[in-house]
Amino acid sequence: MDIYYCGACGELLSECPHCIVCNQELHFHCAGITKAAYRNLGDRKSTWRCIKCKQTHSIQPPLSPKFESDALILKEIRALSDKLAPLECLKDEVNDFTYLEI
Ligand SMILES: [Zn+2]
Ligand SMILES: [Zn+2]
Repeated sequence: MDIYYCGACGELLSECPHCIVCNQELHFHCAGITKAAYRNLGDRKSTWRCIKCKQTHSIQPPLSPKFESDALILKEIRALSDKLAPLECLKDEVNDFTYLEI
């Protein structure tokens, strides 16, 4: 049986997920995946990325990961509020309608 050391905490591992991005073996709990979920990946195991690498959204380690992920989150929040904007208008329309009914 192969023996690995966890890329996150440095402890010994036996069965473990392998991340293609940081090229490390990790504990399931260190990698942010459950054993069952990893087993269910099937063929996708060969392209699996640990939670850390998923968060950076990059094959190469970014120069300033903190900044990049913040910018990304900000972008996602803006995209989300754009999506929600029509709902806000709809809410106003509903309010107007209710008001007219009374
Ligand atoms: Zn670990
Ligand atoms: Zn990784």
